[in-house]
Amino acid sequence: MSAKPAADPIFAARDQGAAAFALIEELYPICRSITGPGVTATLDIIERFVPLKRTQVPTGTKVFDWEVPREWTIRDAFIKNAAGDRVVDFKKHNLHVVSYAVPLRAKMSRAELEPYLYSIPENPDWIPYRTSYYCESWGFCVSQRQREALGDGPFEVEIDSDLKPGVLTYGEALLKGETAEEVLIYTHICHPSLCNDNLSAIAVACLLAQRLAARTHGLSYRFIFGPVTIGSITWLAMNEARVANIRHGLVLASLGDRGALTYKRSRRGDAEIDRILGFLAETGRVGAIEDFSPYGYDERQFCSPGFNLPVGRLTRTPNARYAEYHTSADDLDFVTSEALGDSLAALETIIAIIELNARYINLAPKCEPRLGPRGIFRNTGGRNPSEFEHAILWVLNQSDGGPDLLSIAAKSKLSFSLIAEAATALAEAGLLARV
Ligand code: ZN
Repeated sequence: MSAKPAADPIFAARDQGAAAFALIEELYPICRSITGPGVTATLDIIERFVPLKRTQVPTGTKVFDWEVPREWTIRDAFIKNAAGDRVVDFKKHNLHVVSYAVPLRAKMSRAELEPYLYSIPENPDWIPYRTSYYCESWGFCVSQRQREALGDGPFEVEIDSDLKPGVLTYGEALLKGETAEEVLIYTHICHPSLCNDNLSAIAVACLLAQRLAARTHGLSYRFIFGPVTIGSITWLAMNEARVANIRHGLVLASLGDRGALTYKRSRRGDAEIDRILGFLAETGRVGAIEDFSPYGYDERQFCSPGFNLPVGRLTRTPNARYAEYHTSADDLDFVTSEALGDSLAALETIIAIIELNARYINLAPKCEPRLGPRGIFRNTGGRNPSEFEHAILWVLNQSDGGPDLLSIAAKSKLSFSLIAEAATALAEAGLLARV
């Protein structure tokens, strides 16, 4: 944490934005959904970064109030006009077919086709993203311009898909630390060609897992890559006995857009992860903090009242608050290497605080101990000694087993790394013990 930027994972993470972007480029063409071959292909790519344990849960398995759905495979889909031209072609864009569309082969008029077309009149070049996971349906998503140019038909409409009993698959990587207490990191992997939501989070999570796997850490880190909603519900149903180990958690999504980092608190609101992100917002590292709301991504399941886990959500611009959300405009131009690198660096900062934050007790609490003879100020490495001295005095004064280092950093307005460095120096000098 001290003045060695080259070796500091937080500084080094920022340079990984280009690698995250390259991974998004590789994932972009795959047509993903909540089940099916796109999920497998995505997990195969993730596995290059971190070894995964895959769990396959059969269709029909009861998971709390839900059931694992049938598995969806899409091979082709198109609308052909009277001249036989593919005027809407799934092979040109994954978003053209409604995700989970049932198989279909039909001839129809424009009027018959019309209720099954989705477009965005206010953004006439964009294709919307639509799903029908839990009700049997079909449809085509098109740009408004395509829709207007379709003509009257008749049309040949085909969706070459399967919706059959199969499995729901999620992958997880458990990076064991010195303790069994876990940090849970959940990323959904079910969206097709949408870069911010959600390829950005997959890419950042892959790089973070790879970096963490290469070094030692105190806590264990569990990365889960699964479909949105049904994935976290299924994981919770299969792992109910494990959740007591979860000490901190983050749902990651939308980490590549140009907006500021936004943290949504856990339902508890005052969990340590909420306090860490609150501290980072106060110091300007995170742009905005929001209270929990039961709308969004998989934090809804982790923070359902029966679990109420200390799991918050980290995004840049939150879902549904940018026009490109769930449209073809959430493409490779919408995400940047800089934003991805910044998101990864922020996660490294959060992990550094998670790892170092602790409560200490002052072992010489009656008046101030003499610091000079203990050599505490000798190893400050050129840092302004008065700032470090302040950190030492704050840590000594506040360490009665109550406030943790994060509280002391917030109260003193000193950086967390300086407070942590002071605590380490005091512990080494025998003046402080970890509670
Ligand atoms: Zn989404």
